[in-house]
Amino acid sequence: MILFIHRKDLRIHNLPALDAIRSAQCSSLHVLILDPFLLRNERNLEHSGVNFLQHVARLQKQYSRLGKQLHIMYGEPAVVVNQLLLKHPIQEILYHADYTPYALKRDLELQKLADSLKVKLTSYDEATLADLQDFVDWSGRTEPYKVFTPFYRRWRTYINERFRPSYSATLEELETVELAPDLLESFLPPEEINKQLEDMRNSLEADDEYGVLMHTLDHFLSERLNGYSISHDQYAKEGTSRISHHLNAGSLSVRTIYEQLMSMDGDTETWLRQLAWRDFYIYQARLDPNFFRYENVFDQSELSTEHFQVWAEGCTGVPIIDAAMRQLNQTGWMPNRLRMITAMFLTKNLGCPFIYGERYFRLKLSDYDNVLNRGGWLWSSSLGFDASPYFRVMNPVTQSQTHDPDGTYLRRWMPELAHLSNKEIHLARPEAIVDLKSSRALAIETYGRILKTK
Ligand code: FAD
Repeated sequence: MILFIHRKDLRIHNLPALDAIRSAQCSSLHVLILDPFLLRNERNLEHSGVNFLQHVARLQKQYSRLGKQLHIMYGEPAVVVNQLLLKHPIQEILYHADYTPYALKRDLELQKLADSLKVKLTSYDEATLADLQDFVDWSGRTEPYKVFTPFYRRWRTYINERFRPSYSATLEELETVELAPDLLESFLPPEEINKQLEDMRNSLEADDEYGVLMHTLDHFLSERLNGYSISHDQYAKEGTSRISHHLNAGSLSVRTIYEQLMSMDGDTETWLRQLAWRDFYIYQARLDPNFFRYENVFDQSELSTEHFQVWAEGCTGVPIIDAAMRQLNQTGWMPNRLRMITAMFLTKNLGCPFIYGERYFRLKLSDYDNVLNRGGWLWSSSLGFDASPYFRVMNPVTQSQTHDPDGTYLRRWMPELAHLSNKEIHLARPEAIVDLKSSRALAIETYGRILKTK
C-alpha cells in the first residue's frame, strides 16, 4: 500500500504522485493533514485561510464524487504519519515537495521516521514549470541566477526544449482505501474547522469544479490574453487571470496552464513571463540560503512600526494606498502593481520593516503563498536577490494618475472622494500621515545604510 499525502497539490489531475501509484499497481491511502502550526494565529478565519479550506472542501468533493476516499486529518505531521505507518501496511510514502524552512524541517522528520520503520519515501517536484533542480544542472552554473533576465532567457530555452508532457493517471483508475476508524477519531479536525469544511462542501456547485476552472482559464486566454500587456496594470479592470489562488493551492497545474497557453495564437510571451517570475521566486526560495531570513541579514533597527496600523487600516490619507488596502481588507485581493506600491509605501515612505507587511498580507491575501509573498516583499523593500534598487521609491500619486486616470478604481473603494475631480482625486490629502517627498528622501538614505549592513 502507498500513502499519498496531499499538500499544495489540491487536485486530482496531472500529478506525478498519481502516475507513480498507477505504475506501482497497488492500493493507496490518500490523506491531507491540517497542520496546526500552519493554521495558527487564526489564519483559518482570514481570507487566506478561508481560501485554503475552500480548496480542501473542493478536493474532498471531487474525491467523493468519484467514490474515492480522501481523509482530512488534523495534527502534527510526524505524529499523524507515525500512527498511519503503525496501523496500515504502508510500503511507500509519496508527496510533492515544498521548500520553506518549516517544510524542509517537517520533511526531514518524516524522512527519519520512514527510515526508522524501513518505509520508502519519495518526493516529487511539481510546483514549477521548469524542473528547477534539473535546470541548475543543465545551465552548467555553480552559482544560482541572481537576476531575473538571464534566468528567464535560460528558462525560456529550457521550456522550449525540455517541457515534458503532463501526467496522465487519474484518480478513477486508482484503488483508494479507508482509514482505520480509530485514527479518524484521534486526528479529527477541531469542530469549528469541520463545520467550515462541511458548509463549504455543501455550498459548492454540483457541476464539475475542474470543468468550471478550465473554463475560467480558457476565457482569460481567449478574451484577455492579447490585451494583457496593457490592461494588467489598470487597477479598475479585471485584466489579469486571477488564477493565483488556484496555482498556489495546486488546484490547477502550472503544466496544464502552459499547455493551454501554447495552444493559443497571439501574445503568449508577456503572460508566460509572469509565470517565469513565479518559477524564479520558487528557485530563489530553494537556492538563496537567505531567502527566508533577510530580516536577520540586514540591520533594520533604524526602521519603525509607528504607522503600520494606519497603513493596514487604509487610513494614510494617500488615496491609492487607502483604496488598495480597503480592497484587500474587504475582498482578500489586490492587483499586482498595487501590492508593489503599498509594500513600497509601507517599507520606504513609512519606514516600517518589511516583515510586518508580509505578515499582514499573509492573513489577508486570498491567494497568499509563502514564497511569492516573501518574494514580493523582498523585491519592494529592495532586499533579496533581484530586488528593486533601494533608490527606487514609487510615487503613489503618479502611479494612481497613470494607471487609474479617470479615478474609477479610487471612486469604487473610496466613495467619500467620489465628488472630487479626476485631477484632485489622486492627490494626497492635507492630513496625510507622511510627506511623500521628504519621506522618499529619508528612505533612500536609510535603505542605502541598511543595505551596507549585510
Ligand atoms: P496574472 O497577472 O494573470 O499572472 C499569472 C500568474 O503569474 C500569477 O497567478 C502568478 O502565479 C504569476 N505572477 C504574476 N505576477 C507575479 C509576480 N509579480 N511575482 C511572482 N509571480 C507572479 N502572488 C501570489 O500568488 N501570492 C502572494 O502571496 C503574493 N504576494 C505578493 C506580495 C507582494 C508585495 C507583491 C508585490 C506581489 C505578490 N504576489 C503574490 C505576486 C502577484 O501580485 C500575484 O501573483 C498576481 O497579482 C496574481 O494575480 P493573477 O493570478 O491575476 O496574475
